[in-house]
Amino acid sequence: MSSFTAEFDDVLVERRYWSASEPELAHWAAFAATFYGALSIPLALADLALAGAGVRFFCALAVRALVACVGFGLARLLRQEPSTVARHGLISGACGLLVVGFGLVALSQVTTSRLPHVEMATLLIGLIILMPNRIPFSLAVCGSGAAVWVAVSAVVAGAPISEMVTAACVFAGTIAVGWAAAVLIGTTRRQAFSRGVAAEMANERLRAELARRERTEVDLIEKANTDPLTKIANRRHFEEQARDEFIRCQRTHQPMSLMLIDVDHFKWINDTHGHAAGDEVLRVLSDTLAEQVRRIDVVGRLGGEEFAVLMPGADPRRAREAAERLRARVAALRIEVPAGRVRLTISVGVTECNVWTEQLSDALGRADEAMYEAKSNGRDCVMTA
Ligand code: GH3
Ligand code: MG
Ligand code: MG
Repeated sequence: MSSFTAEFDDVLVERRYWSASEPELAHWAAFAATFYGALSIPLALADLALAGAGVRFFCALAVRALVACVGFGLARLLRQEPSTVARHGLISGACGLLVVGFGLVALSQVTTSRLPHVEMATLLIGLIILMPNRIPFSLAVCGSGAAVWVAVSAVVAGAPISEMVTAACVFAGTIAVGWAAAVLIGTTRRQAFSRGVAAEMANERLRAELARRERTEVDLIEKANTDPLTKIANRRHFEEQARDEFIRCQRTHQPMSLMLIDVDHFKWINDTHGHAAGDEVLRVLSDTLAEQVRRIDVVGRLGGEEFAVLMPGADPRRAREAAERLRARVAALRIEVPAGRVRLTISVGVTECNVWTEQLSDALGRADEAMYEAKSNGRDCVMTA
């Protein structure tokens, strides 16, 4: 950070600091402009007391009125549109007008009063502290303004040397104190800004880490619930979902049926076309299953070439119809594998689940018996328990 202007060495950080402080800066600048506008009123009264109601007073009054207009106008603009504070040309121009206005009246009183010293000192210190985004500008304006004032008071008004020394000391002291205060305020605010940025970055890292962990957790749950080959629910997750469905059907007094599906002569498919072809058959079969069942049905791979579908709300007749449709659909499949085309059939056992008196394992046992009956019936058929 610069010890002259308190600015960050990194230009980008400095820019971010200013854009973050813009509303506050606008507020300060509007306050300063109002202050200088309002200051013209008591100063005009002081002018009247010093000079009486003569031409000099009215000239001074005209300049004071102009200064008040510039001050109030700038304050109004800043309140309406805070981003105006970043328009350096406009703000600097308005500040320049304020300084010139104050300076002109001060010069007219150079030999008659000490009031200009106080007036100019207030203006200088205020400019430096209350317009913190233009310290070099404020220092330049205040320094040259003070120098011009001292020089003109000496040359034009013929002020004595002691007057000039006093004025120079007052202005130099004011500018030095104003600058030191502005740097102190700027440094403190920038340090707070840096801490805020560091905290924001730490929060950002924390949020990213949380999001990563959430994703990992979702992935892990997905992996724990899904069969890696077919991407449908594995046995454990199927049983979990089935338990929920049993409870739901109990509550809603709905029937529920279960079908157990086993691929016929799957070992032959493996032996004839290879294990990879067998895998492809299982994938296509599970896709077909997922596509044939309703959204509310629960599908799972119980193991090997055995699948189950739990059908909440389906009575045995509707479950049998669904199983028949599925069987026919599978029998019509022609699955492309590297060694050629594979056809397959399935044997299906269907049973109604008594959600009040039994558990999934009881229904699975009955469906298994029905499925074996289908096998002994020549396969590629549906049997109801
Ligand atoms: P059935 O008509 O009586 O059901 O005869 P099947 O040949 O289908 O039944 P069996 O139980 O004799 O054979 C099942 C085969 O499924 C044996 C096993 O190697 C195979 N298998 C189990 N899991 C997988 C798998 O993930 N991928 C492949 N390619 N084969 C599997
Ligand atoms: Mg089997
Ligand atoms: Mg089989």
